[in-house]
Amino acid sequence: MGMSIDLSAIQANWKSLAERAPGARAAAVVKADAYGLGAARVAPALYEAGVREFFVALAAEGRALRPLLGDDARIFVLSGHMEGQDLTGLIPLLNSPEQFFRDRALRPRGAFGLQLDTGMNRLGLEPGEWAAIRSEALAAGPSLLMSHLACADEPEHPANAEQLAAFRAMTDGTGVPRSLSATGGILLGADYHFDIVRPGVGMYGGLPFAEARPVLSLDLPVIQTRDVKAGESVGYGYSWTAKRPSRVATVAAGYADGLARALARQGELRLWAGERACPVVGRISMDLITVDVTDLPDIPKKLAILNAAQGIDALADLSGTIGYEILTSLGQRYARTYS
Ligand SMILES: *Cc1c(COP(=O)(O)O)cnc(C)c1O
Repeated sequence: MGMSIDLSAIQANWKSLAERAPGARAAAVVKADAYGLGAARVAPALYEAGVREFFVALAAEGRALRPLLGDDARIFVLSGHMEGQDLTGLIPLLNSPEQFFRDRALRPRGAFGLQLDTGMNRLGLEPGEWAAIRSEALAAGPSLLMSHLACADEPEHPANAEQLAAFRAMTDGTGVPRSLSATGGILLGADYHFDIVRPGVGMYGGLPFAEARPVLSLDLPVIQTRDVKAGESVGYGYSWTAKRPSRVATVAAGYADGLARALARQGELRLWAGERACPVVGRISMDLITVDVTDLPDIPKKLAILNAAQGIDALADLSGTIGYEILTSLGQRYARTYS
């Protein structure tokens, strides 16, 4: 099974998101192995395109990237300074008074930033905690003050303006570089941009960046095809029964490859032979998917599950999830090729 990743499309998507925030520097979020696409290839391509600020979730992700990027690249760690972590060459975004005091005790000269909670209640210092350590923290010279929007993919949601006001109240006049917005916040407009924006999913071709260039295609090799008589069934639970004499192809990929059983639950999942759509029939197994190819003039060696017609968000709709989860679930069995 093959995953083709278009690095030039990732670079182009990053540039067009950067152009939407002309007053800010555009960083790149490459956590979770660059959303499953391979951080070891994606991050250097972004560096080449001009990215100098990278965000990862965990210190271990940052350490793996450090030797692959130039010394002028800054790698921020969103989980901050957790006990026992090696943060050499990284910039933790400290999330609590406990993390702040731990970090200052262990790395008194190490660069750090601070993450503030403006309403999401997930990570970051609450306003009261910030007030308590603010003068000491500012005196220590943070590289960044950041927060994260909970509802940026819903432009009309009142939480956006509330979080913006809370962020301003906590950071106005500090003189420290600030960052509030991921992909969704970039699209909310200039008020949300501050000094650094942090796009992730939009670079990888996902909503809410509807104008993104597609980045990913997935091809599943056909292992065998067979004729199925009308009245015969296919797969676990015999959940699909042929109404007509049919030709069924079995392809190599399944729920162990991030193609969840729920994708096939409505009977609307298609695999593609070029422009021709072929319905998936029966249940998705761990390593196998069965496809009705009766109407194809000839059977190709492989069928696509992600292409220009069926992108990550279309797949996500079928299983009731989001493009982010499709991307980060695909797993390690695909042979990745980069162009
Ligand atoms: C994941 C994440 C991002 C990137 O978000 P996208 O919606 O993928 O652009 C930015 N900031 C933080 C704190 C994140 O956790």
